Amino acid sequence: MEAIPVSAAEDYRKQVSQISYRNQAFIDGSFVGAASGATFDCISPIDGKVLTRVAACDKEDVDRAVAAARRAFDAGVWSDIAPRKRKKILLKFATLIDDHKDELALLETLDMGKPIAESRGSDIPGVVNTVAFYAEAIDKMYDEMAPRRPDSISLITREPLGVVAAVVPWNFPLSMAGWKFGPALAAGNAVIVKPAEQSPLTAIRVAELAAEAGIPDGIFQVLPGFGETAGQALGRHMDVDMVAFTGSTEIGKLFLSYAGESNMKHVSLECGGKSPNIVFADVADLDFAAKAAAEGVFYNSGQVCTAATRLLVQEDVQDQFIQKVAEYARDWMPGDPLDPKTAMGPVVDSAQLDRVMNYIQVGSGEGAKIAAGGKRAREETGGYYIEPTIFSSVDNGMRIAQEEIFGPVLSTIPFRDEEEAVKIANETIYGLQASLWTRDINKAHKVARALKAGTVNINATDGGDITVPFGGYKQSGIGRDKSLHAFEKYTQLKHTFIQLY
Ligand code: NAD
Repeated sequence: MEAIPVSAAEDYRKQVSQISYRNQAFIDGSFVGAASGATFDCISPIDGKVLTRVAACDKEDVDRAVAAARRAFDAGVWSDIAPRKRKKILLKFATLIDDHKDELALLETLDMGKPIAESRGSDIPGVVNTVAFYAEAIDKMYDEMAPRRPDSISLITREPLGVVAAVVPWNFPLSMAGWKFGPALAAGNAVIVKPAEQSPLTAIRVAELAAEAGIPDGIFQVLPGFGETAGQALGRHMDVDMVAFTGSTEIGKLFLSYAGESNMKHVSLECGGKSPNIVFADVADLDFAAKAAAEGVFYNSGQVCTAATRLLVQEDVQDQFIQKVAEYARDWMPGDPLDPKTAMGPVVDSAQLDRVMNYIQVGSGEGAKIAAGGKRAREETGGYYIEPTIFSSVDNGMRIAQEEIFGPVLSTIPFRDEEEAVKIANETIYGLQASLWTRDINKAHKVARALKAGTVNINATDGGDITVPFGGYKQSGIGRDKSLHAFEKYTQLKHTFIQLY
């Protein structure tokens, strides 16, 4: 993570008063209001105040953007240019995002409340790296020839899909969008980003940078708006070839229906999680594991699809371990997101605040015990802050162990042995990520193999990187983001057969 100077706190506060927000849709190379003229309030979770009013796009705007995307795609102004040329433009795009990282980080922090240390040190640099990674890869991707009879040639080539809609959530607004538009653009598609209504500002601003970099009109568009309107219209559109979705499992399933009821478009889904973090008694460093357990659940106020929300602790070390995690939880007491020393900010909006506080009540009602936190914080600011909260004596059948809370709430569950740990870990509809801690390499491999999850961390809670695939088993999703494997979903295979005479 890139460190930012602590003295920046005052600078950031000063910059807030000087921002002029881009708040319209970016369609066919221009900023425009929604056709209906409708807007929605963009509220900062830092203090509950309105930052700006953003265009609320609907079906008519979606139709316009899809038509522009189709025109640009079919004209070949992007899909048919040499990969090397796309690389050059995308590298310029990455550089421009990098040049504007302070501004973009500030927008991200104001819009969804994540600490500036994260948006400036991790999220925005991550987007720069993602775009550059796919730009650099695209002129190194070779097609295939099948091993057939010498009097024939079978070419297997990858072609872009066409019009790709990226419908993304608010927890890592620009990062999640970048995981989609990076590989989709590099592969030659036209992309329409539909940011979450809670966090549209960075995607809108980045559209301008894409145009400045030389991405042709219609190839990169941004449609802010609500899920049920703009999101659904994209999902049901007969001329959208693919939806790349990140969000809840519930809405992910809707996109499968939309595709089935429209044009059978490709759908990739990165959905929810309820990740187990298994701590065996033979863990090498109990203290380090406790620190990582706290970070694994409280990072980004727990609004992380991979958040290690179920802490499975072997009975022998249970009390000692929970006590240590509770000590580390104090490092995550919420603070002002504009202060670079703050580790945890608010949750994204008042609805999320109510949802998380309700789950805390549900947990107590189910008989779990609060070992730390459990209350709102910083109410005087008008923002939506919650204390890092730990439940002990949780049974895996309880709602707080089965349902995605998406807030700073940890459920700790005891287990006896390896077999029971794996059973509890896998007893969930999700399968996004799992972690385990042990010094026994045989146990580590055996348990890792038995865990039904797209990512397994051993002696860590986060091993993610743009170089490795990311996605879920079971109802955590379909398909993979990140790494070169991401190209698989933004392209389709063509077999061209040639008979030689
Ligand atoms: P969400 O499912 O409510 O919304 C995601 C996107 O879908 C938003 O852009 C939203 O406007 C849109 N949408 C909402 N309702 C829609 C509808 N009826 N039709 C079409 N589109 C609709 O999710 P969220 O609350 O924004 O984000 C939190 C969720 O995202 C969590 O479940 C989290 O686990 C998941 N997530 C998953 C990953 C991953 O990679 N697996 C990463 C981040 C977040």
